[in-house]
Amino acid sequence: MTPLERALHERIKAEGPITVEAFMEACNTYYYATRDPFGTVGDFTTAPEISQMFGEMVGACLADCWLRAGSPVNAAYTELGPGRGTLAADALRVMRSAGFGGDVHFVETSPILREAQRAAVGDAHWLDSVDDLPQEPQLIVANEFLDALPVQQFIQGTERRVMIVGGGFAFDRDGQTVELSPIREEIVRAIARRLTTKGGVALFIDYGHARIGRGDTLQAVRGHRFSPVLANPGEQDLTSHVDFETVERAGREAGASVTRIVTQGDWLKRLGIEARAAGLTQSNPERADDIRSAVERLTSAEQMGELFKVIAIHSADWPAPAGFE
Ligand code: SAH
Repeated sequence: MTPLERALHERIKAEGPITVEAFMEACNTYYYATRDPFGTVGDFTTAPEISQMFGEMVGACLADCWLRAGSPVNAAYTELGPGRGTLAADALRVMRSAGFGGDVHFVETSPILREAQRAAVGDAHWLDSVDDLPQEPQLIVANEFLDALPVQQFIQGTERRVMIVGGGFAFDRDGQTVELSPIREEIVRAIARRLTTKGGVALFIDYGHARIGRGDTLQAVRGHRFSPVLANPGEQDLTSHVDFETVERAGREAGASVTRIVTQGDWLKRLGIEARAAGLTQSNPERADDIRSAVERLTSAEQMGELFKVIAIHSADWPAPAGFE
């Protein structure tokens, strides 16, 4: 039994079956607090870990938006769930060269990942929650952050729970499922409200769907393979598809401007990933195959290009970022 498995057994014995949301929250909090899960020896690989080009495109997008907003000197770079800090390091290299001199804020709960982030971006400030965001215009990015936040599942109007059967975990009901994530919506609303009052832009990049109503999308990944959701609690990554229609609505209802929802492949191509790949290849001809395959992984429909979506939320006085035309 894993330590978290024992704790969850005790909890369910004491409280009765717990909601899927409580189970996912407990699992992911433990999971991220106890490891660096990224890369080939880890459980999964995210876009910034595939290639520096991903963070560079994010940096180019934010820098362009900041320049067109009049280069406010007090604007800050803020990232939610920065992982190893790779995206931030690549994005900030581009942004600094465009003249951006602002502070860096990381919203991160995992002490282990905070250490990795410190190694990548030494002068960052760490925050526990989006409630602590600074009172400045913000350039915000969240890649594969919302998908790790817990979801509620409802079956015929009743919230699905996890119980213990024969010493193992089991769902208390099955059937046509509706997923909701109040915590995701609350975070998007909090950011949209802050942007509306202080100015700025936020990019949300994640795997998910553009329209609501996909049913049960909860999944577990361990060692680059799918695993049963209730197995190995706290030892595998639990995620669910992000419902971008709800993100869009939450942003708009909070008073912010919202772009279209576009696919990651289209977005990266509109931002010029192919030109960047050509430039990188010219200066590193020995890496030509790696660069080509990274572009393929990030943009092709068979890989991350279509499943991953991007949306931006911005204040009315800031321009819409590029890539969403
Ligand atoms: N953006 C990174 C990492 C994605 S994994 C990348 O693309 O590589 C999810 C990240 O969100 C991790 O850094 C994890 O520790 C963090 N995280 C998960 N739940 C969180 C929460 N509730 N508050 C803050 N950070 C959280």
